[in-house]
Amino acid sequence: MKRYLALFLAAAIAFGAQAQEIVKGSIEGVPAQGSYHPTFSSDGADYLPRNVILMIGDGTGLAQIMAGYFANNEELTYTNLKHMGWVTTKSASAFVTDSAASGSAYATGQKTYNNALGVDVNKRPIPNIPELLAPCGVISGVVSTDDLNGATPGAFFAHQIHRRMTDEIWADLPSSVLKYFAAGSQEVFEARPLETQQAIQKEFTVVHSMDDPKCKDAERLGVLPPAVETGYIVKGRTDFLPRATRQAIDFLNQRRQEDKGFFLMVEGARIDKACHSNDFPSAVKELLDFDLAIAEAIKFADEDGSTLVIISADHETSGLVVWGGDPSKGNVEGVHITTWHTATPVPLFSYGPHAQDFMGVQGNEQVAQKILKLLRR
Ligand SMILES: [Zn+2]
Repeated sequence: MKRYLALFLAAAIAFGAQAQEIVKGSIEGVPAQGSYHPTFSSDGADYLPRNVILMIGDGTGLAQIMAGYFANNEELTYTNLKHMGWVTTKSASAFVTDSAASGSAYATGQKTYNNALGVDVNKRPIPNIPELLAPCGVISGVVSTDDLNGATPGAFFAHQIHRRMTDEIWADLPSSVLKYFAAGSQEVFEARPLETQQAIQKEFTVVHSMDDPKCKDAERLGVLPPAVETGYIVKGRTDFLPRATRQAIDFLNQRRQEDKGFFLMVEGARIDKACHSNDFPSAVKELLDFDLAIAEAIKFADEDGSTLVIISADHETSGLVVWGGDPSKGNVEGVHITTWHTATPVPLFSYGPHAQDFMGVQGNEQVAQKILKLLRR
């Protein structure tokens, strides 16, 4: 028997899979947080949206979403939405993508290789959505619970051949077209070379709290809170993600040109990270927090009437399955089959004008192409 297991493991490693024993986890007794019920007044309208909010739940497949749903008294803002599709996530170099290649596909409309950040398969820079929209008068922002140099936020402003080139990624920030960013962290920022910090502070009003009075009059704002505020919920993060989402929306909406809109990318980064650790309760808590950020975006879309919200993921992480439990007690059990990503397509939810364009099965790069088609005018 052991011999067969060894052969299986050898074969799995040869084919690139990360074989492991399944890991079970369970959660119970999470305080119910309710959900936002949209008005649907602009949902599926034929007129072009002025603003687009793209929300990426890193590593968020169907099981991650539904584990949150069952833990939260069988409701989420996510699942109150009606327009749904699926996204395939393969990269140009691998069936199983990483966050850099998928983030780059979402940011540029082009597939690239794993580890690439805003560059094509020949390692040449490719323009991202904020850069392509800036000449049309559309302003952009980025929010994430990851470090700002993380693969997903990084893909929306940087052009580097490898996601681990942290200093180079930060050095791309001052010359980017972003008007707003909120992500981790003060500590990560202060570990960069002094000249990079100074160049960023020259271009952006950098604050370490969303309550800083300097936020109000800033032309370009960078929020870099202490690391604990963008770290895991289970390690003390409170309401950073929904608050920063609302601040970003208000900041961009107040500064956009009268007849032009904004583009905002919001990432719930730690759903993926918790799944890499096969930490099921942490993944569920991160998903529920991401749902609060989704509620902020959908509320604004209802107030505004001309905002399209797209919620999807860069890939699934850990091959999560909702294994069992008792939803009447908020009890959910999950099983992880790997500590890495999978190639399983991820759900997409959309809300607002032209939400219907995102139904059906599409590649991650096609999501970006559709956003650009709607906003480039
Ligand atoms: Zn990951």
